[in-house]
Amino acid sequence: MHKRYSKEELTAIRTLIPIEPLIEEVLKLEQAGRRFHCPCCKTLCLTLKHSSNLLWCSSCERDFNAIDIVMHSRRCGFIHSVNLLKALLPSAYRSNMQKGSMRPERKVFRSGRG
Ligand SMILES: [Zn+2]
Repeated sequence: MHKRYSKEELTAIRTLIPIEPLIEEVLKLEQAGRRFHCPCCKTLCLTLKHSSNLLWCSSCERDFNAIDIVMHSRRCGFIHSVNLLKALLPSAYRSNMQKGSMRPERKVFRSGRG
């Protein structure tokens, strides 16, 4: 694949965008209780994995990250999905990405570890 996005950008998109509001408010996946409609197998087998910010489909037996779930529910490609998600990132991360660097945030994380 053509490398258009840095590893840092993709990691930020997968980890910083909370998956629950994404599927509820942006993708508006059908929901029954704590289960969501899986765009792959079309069953209500999709559940949230809060600890890892992923979705798990017990029917497909696979995880979906934010990029995967947008690609499947919007039936779009990887680039389109990343662009949609980038617009949802907190503005601090977005402006750093536009400059091509996420270093200021990394420093914050490092000092936070003490
Ligand atoms: Zn599924």
